[in-house]
Amino acid sequence: MTSKALQSFLEENITDLKERGLYNEIDPVQGANGPIINIDGKELVNLSSNNYLGLATDDRLKEVAKDAVDSHGVGAGAVRTINGTLDLHLELEKKLAAFKGTEAVISYQSGFNCNMAAISAVMDKNDAILSDELNHASIIDGCRLSKAKIIRFSHSDMDDLRAKAKEAVESGQYNKVMVITDGVFSMDGDVAKLPEIVEVAEEFDLITYVDDAHGSGVLGKGAGTVKHFGLQDKVDFQMGTLSKAIGVIGGYVAGKGELIDWLKVRSRPFLFSTAVSPADAVASTKAVDLLMESTDLNEKLWENSQYLKDGLKKLGFDIGDSETPITPCILGDEKDTQDFSKRLYEEGVYAKSIVFPTVPRGTGRVRNMPTAAHTKEMLDNALFAYEKIGKELGLI
Ligand code: PMP
Repeated sequence: MTSKALQSFLEENITDLKERGLYNEIDPVQGANGPIINIDGKELVNLSSNNYLGLATDDRLKEVAKDAVDSHGVGAGAVRTINGTLDLHLELEKKLAAFKGTEAVISYQSGFNCNMAAISAVMDKNDAILSDELNHASIIDGCRLSKAKIIRFSHSDMDDLRAKAKEAVESGQYNKVMVITDGVFSMDGDVAKLPEIVEVAEEFDLITYVDDAHGSGVLGKGAGTVKHFGLQDKVDFQMGTLSKAIGVIGGYVAGKGELIDWLKVRSRPFLFSTAVSPADAVASTKAVDLLMESTDLNEKLWENSQYLKDGLKKLGFDIGDSETPITPCILGDEKDTQDFSKRLYEEGVYAKSIVFPTVPRGTGRVRNMPTAAHTKEMLDNALFAYEKIGKELGLI
């Protein structure tokens, strides 16, 4: 029997979310999450995945994953510190360290887990964390878990960061102070001002943490935002995910050997949660190999993004100031945005609407995520739908 308290909690809150239009309905995808997806028997151009390089469905990754199932089975069998560290996990970490140009890497089961793990392994209640106000939910949760004082600075506002860093450090209240930022912000596609952030960090002796979930595989010819700015020696934590450009699942921190050793003995998801499967580990390693061997996929991603951006701009849409493949089509009004996305679906394009409270009120947008796997024909079909609906709704 369900507890009455739970039942009324659920009823009240679900009704509230539904009334506010915030109750997320899930669209299950039948089959693979590639550039074309099938939802409810309908084929759609997929502009909503983070599968930037198309590796989630790449035959070369599938091949090694199948072999790993044969040689290693389907599960790691234990947490990393008991006997769940397989040769394949170590190969992945070694390869990632070479890719990132750092001394060592520790991998986790997801990017989300990684932020929860790494931040709280280093920061505690006697510390402070300066966090960009638009940082990802997993950063926010990782910061909360650490119990450090969280000091939010205005998005990419370096004057605000400097002032708050100065105040925190000069207060003498904290043992350590960290600055933490997304490398690429996923709603607008803008890039963190890392050179300035690093400058402030040097001035005030801040620990630096960059979540490069959307920069890895994308910026710096694939090596990420930190490499893009040539700051490999200046960032303590280079966090990344294996679930976006790499196409698989998992997360990691790249950094100095001593830091990674500490995370291996102190970060709780590493100590208490089973490692990713052999197939996941080997597929990620293969993806990193491919990125190190050639920049072809990375170049294709940028070419396709430019094509989509040029097309939308030519049609008269506002695509914001994205510096990365993330391509918001900013429509403003929340209802227009939701209607637009629904109409796109009917016309064979899957691109999600993002509205308040995920983005500020009046800046509703349909977010497009082009990948290296899209063909020009797919992108043309999407642009054709954008033109048709834009005219129909009187938005262009
Ligand atoms: N950080 C950022 C900036 C992200 O966008 C995401 C994924 N949405 C994550 C962390 C979490 O990564 P994962 O999906 O691998 O858990």
